Amino acid sequence: MKITHKNIQGIIIKIIGALVIAWSLSGCSAEEAREFFDLTPALRTPPADVSAVPVFSSDGSAPTGSLTEEAVIPEVPENAPYDESAFFKTPDISSLADYPKMWTKKYTGEYEKTDKTVYLTFDDGPSENTGVILKILKDNGVKASFFVVPDEGEVCAARLRAIAAEGHTIGIHSYTHNYLTVYADEKAFTDDFAKAYDIVVKAVNQKPWLYRFPGGSVNQYNRGCREEIKEAMDKRGFVYYDWNVDSNDWRGLSVEELCGSVAADASRFNNPIILMHDTDTRENTAKALDRIIKELKRQGFKFAPLTPRTEPIQYGVNW
Ligand SMILES: [Zn+2]
Repeated sequence: MKITHKNIQGIIIKIIGALVIAWSLSGCSAEEAREFFDLTPALRTPPADVSAVPVFSSDGSAPTGSLTEEAVIPEVPENAPYDESAFFKTPDISSLADYPKMWTKKYTGEYEKTDKTVYLTFDDGPSENTGVILKILKDNGVKASFFVVPDEGEVCAARLRAIAAEGHTIGIHSYTHNYLTVYADEKAFTDDFAKAYDIVVKAVNQKPWLYRFPGGSVNQYNRGCREEIKEAMDKRGFVYYDWNVDSNDWRGLSVEELCGSVAADASRFNNPIILMHDTDTRENTAKALDRIIKELKRQGFKFAPLTPRTEPIQYGVNW
C-alpha cells in the first residue's frame, strides 16, 4: 500500500476511535460493555404513546384492578426455623411522596444458611425463549428467579403469569433498560421502576420485593445517583441482588463454552448467584441450560429461587 497523507490520516482516525471505545469500556462491568454496543441498535424504546403506559396516578390511587392496599407478604419458606412473619417489617410509607403504594414488607430476620445452593437468575425477559427455559427448569425440578423488563402487551403478561405459576421468583429489572434514562437521577429510576412494577403487579397479582439494577448496582452510568436510588428503594422495602457468577451468555458464547464457563465459575462458591439472560437473541442460554443444571447437580448443588431469606450479593457492600 502506498503511504499517502490521506491514508495516514485514516489510520490515525481509526486508532483514536479504538482508543475512545477502549477507554469508554475500561471502567465497565461485563453487562455494561454489552449495553454499550447494544444501546444503539437494540435500544428498548418506550412505546410511542408514553401516556398509554399504566402508571400510578398522582394522588397515589392505584388504577382499578391493580394494587390492593396491603402488600403481599413474601411467602415464608416451609422450612423456616421459627415464625418469621414477625420479621417482615412495614416501611414508613408516610414518607413516600411518589407512588405511595409501591412498597413491600422487608425481611429483617436472619439469612438462611444454605449449603451448596445455586440461584439461577434470568435478566431482561420475558422473551420468546421464556417458554423453553420454563420447560427445562420444570423438567429438572428447578426453581429460579427472573428480573424482568416487561412491556404492556398481552404476550408479555401471559409469559409473566407462566413464570409466576411455576413458582419462580419475579423481580424488577427495568422498563426501558436504557442506562441514560434510568440513571438520569433517583426520580428517573423510580419512574422507570414504577412502570415495570405496575405491569408485573397487574399481570401476576403479586408485589415483587426484589430488584436488580440494569448493569449491576455499581456501574459508570449511576455513579452520581446510585446511593440515592439505593436509599429510596430501601425506604420502600425493596432489596437488590447483584451476582457472583456471570454466565457470559451476552458474549454470544457457544453452548459448549457456556456450559464450561458456568460450571467452572459456580464451583468456586457455596451460593452462586448466576447471571443469565432470557432474551429473543440468547437462544444458546436456553440450549445450554439443561446441561448446565445437570452439571451443577453432578457437582452436588441444589437449586433455589431467591427468597427474602437469601443473603443478597451487593457490589460495594459485601462483594
Ligand atoms: Zn439487563
